[in-house]
Amino acid sequence: MPATTILPELVCPAGSLPALKAAVDNGADTVYFGLKNDTNARNFAGLNFDDKTARDGIRYARERGRKVLMAINTYAQGGDISRWHRAVDEAADLGVDAVILADLGLMDYAARRHPELRLHMSVQSSATNYEAINLARELFGIRRAVLPRVLTLDQVKHVIDHTEVEIEVFGFGSLCVMVEGRCLLSSYATGESPNTHGVCSPAKFVRWEHGEEQLNARLSGVLIDQYAKDEPAGYPTLCKGRFDVRGDTYYALEEPTSLNVLAMLPQILDIGVAAIKVEGRQRSPAYVAQVTRTLREALDAAGRERNRFMVKPAWQQALAKVAEGQQQTLGAYDRPWK
Ligand code: SF4
Repeated sequence: MPATTILPELVCPAGSLPALKAAVDNGADTVYFGLKNDTNARNFAGLNFDDKTARDGIRYARERGRKVLMAINTYAQGGDISRWHRAVDEAADLGVDAVILADLGLMDYAARRHPELRLHMSVQSSATNYEAINLARELFGIRRAVLPRVLTLDQVKHVIDHTEVEIEVFGFGSLCVMVEGRCLLSSYATGESPNTHGVCSPAKFVRWEHGEEQLNARLSGVLIDQYAKDEPAGYPTLCKGRFDVRGDTYYALEEPTSLNVLAMLPQILDIGVAAIKVEGRQRSPAYVAQVTRTLREALDAAGRERNRFMVKPAWQQALAKVAEGQQQTLGAYDRPWK
């Protein structure tokens, strides 16, 4: 590791103005937010920003020397692309530090219409190799790419070594089984998916049935999970349901798990990652505060202590309190069997 370590930016989620302030107050370098519509992949009722809260949030962050990114990371739907164009225009008008885009057509629009606007390639673009990233740089001038959570750390390094584009990786938050940008599971049950409508398992399709002995969670009528009394219940997504498969009931696709890279922060610093992202614009300001504060401390310690870096139990406990499910993992970054 070099004598002076340039720390990656800590990029934190802002699903609301209070969450944005929580991120800024607890040490985020950068926050990211979306508008109140399907142009972003966390299009849940009650979340996100209108023009006024966006301007208030940007002012709050800027006054404290932080950056603000706007996510426009769903795919524009045929015949109705104007909403996505308006979102890009609004980002330029708001003066955000960058827009996070998934759709190539939208990158083209942004690059032509607003050449001054910095473009980040969203994780939803599913770019897992440097060739795809360099092509987007050549065509649209993208400055940063967010990698899907499917690469090992060596593969992340390989990408970094072959591109001038800054590389952002996920550091904490709920994991999906999908390669980002390609999961349509939610559509099978509801007709709506993150890529098209900006939301997985929209709340209007969710039903909670309280019985004497159990709680049933249904999505569009499909029984996703059944919880015993006092068992913590998770939000019903198809990938994380417990299903009856040939007489056995279990998490047939994926057990709810959180990514947590605390244990490999020094290696992440070593390979030259430009930014570490926290997932969770759908989560509360309390989650944002807790995760941001913990990662800020850990990242600063990794920068200072370099080779003597140790994960503090208090950090793990703080993150475990807000993690999805009972398990945490280094995810694809660390594949001992590879
Ligand atoms: S169904 Fe699961 S894997 Fe697919 S987008 Fe939703 S949470 Fe992610």
